[in-house]
Amino acid sequence: MSSNNIPSSRRKCVGVKVGSVTIGGDAPIVVQSMTNTDTADEIATTMQVAQLARAGSELVRITVNTMEAARAVAGIRARLDDMGCHVPLVGDFHFNGHKLLTAYPECAQALAKYRINPGNVGQGKKRDEQFSTLIETACKYDKPVRIGVNWGSLDPTMLARIMDENARAASPMDAAQVMRKALITSALESAAKAEELGLGRDRIVLSCKVSGVQDLIAVYSELAAQCDYALHLGLTEAGMGSKGIVASTAALSVLLFRGIGDTIRISLTPEPGGDRSREVIVGQEILQTMGLRAFVPLVAACPGCGRTTSTYFQELAESIQAYVREQMIDWREQYDGVENMTLAVMGCVVNGPGESKHANIGISLPGSGENPVAPVFVDGQKTVTLKGDNIAGEFRAIVDEYVRT
Ligand code: SF4
Repeated sequence: MSSNNIPSSRRKCVGVKVGSVTIGGDAPIVVQSMTNTDTADEIATTMQVAQLARAGSELVRITVNTMEAARAVAGIRARLDDMGCHVPLVGDFHFNGHKLLTAYPECAQALAKYRINPGNVGQGKKRDEQFSTLIETACKYDKPVRIGVNWGSLDPTMLARIMDENARAASPMDAAQVMRKALITSALESAAKAEELGLGRDRIVLSCKVSGVQDLIAVYSELAAQCDYALHLGLTEAGMGSKGIVASTAALSVLLFRGIGDTIRISLTPEPGGDRSREVIVGQEILQTMGLRAFVPLVAACPGCGRTTSTYFQELAESIQAYVREQMIDWREQYDGVENMTLAVMGCVVNGPGESKHANIGISLPGSGENPVAPVFVDGQKTVTLKGDNIAGEFRAIVDEYVRT
């Protein structure tokens, strides 16, 4: 494989400690997520944070938008700790963060990081005062800050200034270039101001989120070239279902391949009643399929075709993926390197044995017919042929045994 086929080396940046997790520096790329509960509802938020952490989220962001929410934060932290869940919490502040953090010092202390949006801190003189309060609070409690700029909420004064300068320029930029310049200027000027106020470079993470794939790639490529702050990647408002997953994957993959990005969040609009942890799984799978990290053994499965007369192999592939994902919570503690294990569930003998031999454990199910027989391959060698009604159970037992030994 040529060197063009592997991700570039990571862009160098200053590492930022967020509780027990490091973003940037030499640390692996961090997967994070965000709750959608009312933070004032301590129990619901605690349960969702725990669910996200159990799915593998290494940081969890919670909305802190009201006095009631700020009051609940320390209780959420305490409840999580009581449950043995020590995932660092990030507080998401807009408009009134200066008031909430001042009113509730225990909230300021319980959070491991603050996210502030320079476009939503206030306007004019108030903006400077309120921004200063936020940064001084972070300095006082020794907390890092993500300066998270979003195209949907750019600081209007700064945007007007850039548009004005552009209108008077000899070679004016086009609208997309103006947008990128505004996003990056907002992030870098805010970071410089935060440093002036005493927040160290090792306490600052930047993000510049937009909802267009090409725009995101362009803005982060420019931002990455202009600074050495740790970068949080995410496509904002990515959307629902496959569109959100595809758009996020397309955008982040290009950036990650270029070595850009120190933490990622996949913003998926959940289906009604859908599981919030899907965004964590997608984030993990992006990093794992790109060879940047390993979280859970991934199951290779063929798509099926006219040779398959039942859905049995698809069901087995899905059930074994769900099984290993669930088991990883315990396996991770007990066994080193299990996350690198590879599994294959194939639909027939055309590609089944070949693909199965490439995996650590593979099974090739029969394409059709009654009384199925399914050869199993372990580290490339055929070990057993499964038959009868309990092929799935016996295959799980083979996976368990492989992990144990
Ligand atoms: Fe079809 Fe068999 Fe190939 Fe699966 S392995 S796609 S069932 S030919």
